[in-house]
Amino acid sequence: MRVAIIGGGISGLTTAFYLEQERRRGAPVQFVLFEAEPRFGGVIRTERVDGCVIEAGPDSFLSAKPWARELCDDLRLSSQLIGSRDTHRRTHILLRGKLEPLPDGMQFMSPTKPGPIVTSRLFSTRAKLRMLREYLAPPEPLAPDEDQSVADFVSRHFGPEMVERVADPLLAGIYGGDAARLSARATLPTFLDSESRYRSLIRGALAAKSAHKRGTTPAPLFTSMRDGMQRMVDAIVRQLPRETLRCSQPVDPLQLRDGVWRLTSREEAAEFEQVVLALPAHTAAKLLSRVPDASRLIEILWEFSYTSAVTVALKYRSNELRLPPGFGFLVPRSEGKRIMACTFVHNKFENRVPEGVSLLRVFLGGARDENATELSDSEIVEIVRRELREILNVTAEPELSRVFKWKNAMAQYEVEHALRVARMEMHVQRFPGLHLTGNAYQGIGIPDCVRLGRSATDAIMRRMRAQRASS
Ligand SMILES: Cc1cc2nc3c(=O)[nH]c(=O)nc-3n(C[C@H](O)[C@H](O)[C@H](O)COP(=O)(O)OP(=O)(O)OC[C@H]3O[C@@H](n4cnc5c(N)ncnc54)[C@H](O)[C@@H]3O)c2cc1C
Repeated sequence: MRVAIIGGGISGLTTAFYLEQERRRGAPVQFVLFEAEPRFGGVIRTERVDGCVIEAGPDSFLSAKPWARELCDDLRLSSQLIGSRDTHRRTHILLRGKLEPLPDGMQFMSPTKPGPIVTSRLFSTRAKLRMLREYLAPPEPLAPDEDQSVADFVSRHFGPEMVERVADPLLAGIYGGDAARLSARATLPTFLDSESRYRSLIRGALAAKSAHKRGTTPAPLFTSMRDGMQRMVDAIVRQLPRETLRCSQPVDPLQLRDGVWRLTSREEAAEFEQVVLALPAHTAAKLLSRVPDASRLIEILWEFSYTSAVTVALKYRSNELRLPPGFGFLVPRSEGKRIMACTFVHNKFENRVPEGVSLLRVFLGGARDENATELSDSEIVEIVRRELREILNVTAEPELSRVFKWKNAMAQYEVEHALRVARMEMHVQRFPGLHLTGNAYQGIGIPDCVRLGRSATDAIMRRMRAQRASS
C-alpha cells in the first residue's frame, strides 16, 4: 500500500510518524512525506540566537489535552518536557492605556473567587453585578444543535464588557480571531458543556475547581520543550527513513484515475493508493481542483477562513525594563493598538534566556489587522517599539529583534464550523483513500493537530485492512 502525505507541519509529521510505527511492526505500507518548504515543521520553528530560545510560531501546548504529550512519550522526549512557571502566571489587560491584572481565579472568563473581582479595576460595578447575576440567575442554555458567536455566548452570560476586555483579546491571542465571528461551539466546547450541566459558567468553573482540589496538584497550564518546540519536529524527522522524506517539493494538483492518485511535484511523479492532505484548507482545495466530481468538496474547503499572524521577538537587558510581574499582557481592540498581545518569555518558561536578559514576544495581525504581514520587518519593529514605549515605557534599544510572518496560518472556526466540517467529511468519503487533516477542522492547537494526524494513520490502516480482507 503506497501512501502520500502532503504537508510536513506537525499534522503531516504525526501521520508519518505513526505510519512508520505500523511499518516497523510489519504492516505492508510505504509512505512518502512531501513538504513545499526546505524544512519540515510548518509553523513550528525555533531559533537559538545569543543564548535565547526564540519561538517563531507556537511556544508550547496546552497540558490538559494529552495527545501532544503522548507523541512526545512515543518519541522518547519526555525528559525534555517542561511546564510553564505557573507561580509567575498573571496576565494583564490594557485598559485606557494602563495594564490591569486579570483578577486571580479567572478561568478564562469565569470568575471563581469573589474577593479579587470585587477589588479589580478591570471591570465596572455594572459588570461585577452581572457576574453575580450569572451565578444566581444564569441564562437559558443553548439547544444541543444550536451555535452562537463567542461574543454572543459570553455576553449572554456576563455582558459586553467581558467580551471586550477578556474574551475577545484572549481569542485574538489564540486564533487571531474576532469574538463576533468565532463559533462558541467550536472554540469553547468545555464552556458549552458547563452551560448545559450547570447553566451558570461560574458554577461550572467552581465545580471543576473543587474536583481538581480532590485530585492531585494540577499540571502546569502549558507544556513546552526544554530547548524549543522545534525539538518535536526534529525528533520525528530523525525517526523517519530518509527515503520517505521530500522537502522543497511543493505538490501540484492531484489526479485521480481508477481509484489511484497520481501526484507530481518538482522532482517526482508517482502513484499512490491513499493520500493525506495535511494542508491549509485552501491549499487542499487547489490540490483537488483537477479531481473529477470534487467541486462541492472544493467549495466547502474554500469556505474555511484564515487570518495571518506576525510574531516579533525583542531581546533586552533586564535592568533596562520595568515590567509588571507575570506572563504578559493582552490588548483589547478598543485600545486602538496594533499589538494584540505580548509574552514575557523569560517569566513563562525557564532556560529561555541567559541571566540578566529579558525576552518579549509580541503578536500582531489577526482579524483586526489583516495587512500586518504586508509591512516590512523594519516597519513592524518600529510600530512594536513605539507601542511598547506607550504601554510599558520601554525606551531602550533592543539588543536583538526578529520578525516572523505567518500568512493565512490561523484557521478561523466561525459560527456553524462543526456543521461545515461534517459536510466536508461527508464529501471526503466519496473519494477512495483521501484523508484531510490539519489545523482547519477540529482543533487549531498542537495537541488537536497531533490527535487528528494520528487518526489519519488509523483511517489509512483501516482502509488497508479492509481492502486486503476483500481481495
Ligand atoms: C504564530 C502562531 C503561534 C501559535 N501558537 C500556538 C501555541 O502556542 N500552542 C499551540 O498549541 N498552537 C499554536 N499555534 C497553532 C499551531 O501551531 C498550528 O495550528 C499547527 O502547528 C499547524 O500544524 P499543521 O501541520 O496543521 O499546519 P502547518 O504547520 O501550516 O503545515 C502545513 C505544511 O504544508 C506545507 N505545504 C503547503 N502547500 C504545500 C504543497 N503544495 N505541497 C507540499 N507541502 C505544502 C507547508 O509548507 C507547511 O509546512 C500557533 C500558530 C501560529 C501561526
